[in-house]
Amino acid sequence: MLINVSTLLREPLGSSRDYRADTEAVAVPSAAFHRSVSGRVHLMRSERGVLVSARFDYEVPLECARCLRTFEAPLSVEFDEEYVALDDPHATARGQRVDPDDFLVDEHRHLDLSEAVWQYEQSALPLLPLCRPDCAGLCPACGADRNEARCGCDAGESDTRWGALRALADQLRTREDGDGGSEA
Ligand SMILES: [Zn+2]
Ligand SMILES: [Zn+2]
Repeated sequence: MLINVSTLLREPLGSSRDYRADTEAVAVPSAAFHRSVSGRVHLMRSERGVLVSARFDYEVPLECARCLRTFEAPLSVEFDEEYVALDDPHATARGQRVDPDDFLVDEHRHLDLSEAVWQYEQSALPLLPLCRPDCAGLCPACGADRNEARCGCDAGESDTRWGALRALADQLRTREDGDGGSEA
């Protein structure tokens, strides 16, 4: 998502612009990140370049932490970032320094908001995505999707686990017995 700021950069500090984004493409190809976002962008001419305040609402594909199904969920991403204009006469006159982390106005005097959307999306994503609050998840014993059917492992996961342990214990005991068991 590119915004041309060549005119804004020629205006006095504090000058501003507002944009509406309507299903605009945002992409960071190196991260295989592609989104279609809607929202609003406020730009303000700052000492180092352009101050961007943006908010986007869109759908992201997520994988449910319980049933592993992929589903779409609404997400809001909001950020304030300053984009530094390297060839800005203001900036060089004031001896501004540029951090490697700074967002930059490119040589064509465009802002690309894609990288920022991608970065801020990472912190906006839910830690434990659920396809629905009461998702029943997969059966830990047989892997069946318990949203769809009962699988017959209703004894419960703990019992099943103990069952497996008991079987292992039986096996070990049998093996010890076979070794002679003189100490028993
Ligand atoms: Zn689920
Ligand atoms: Zn099961």
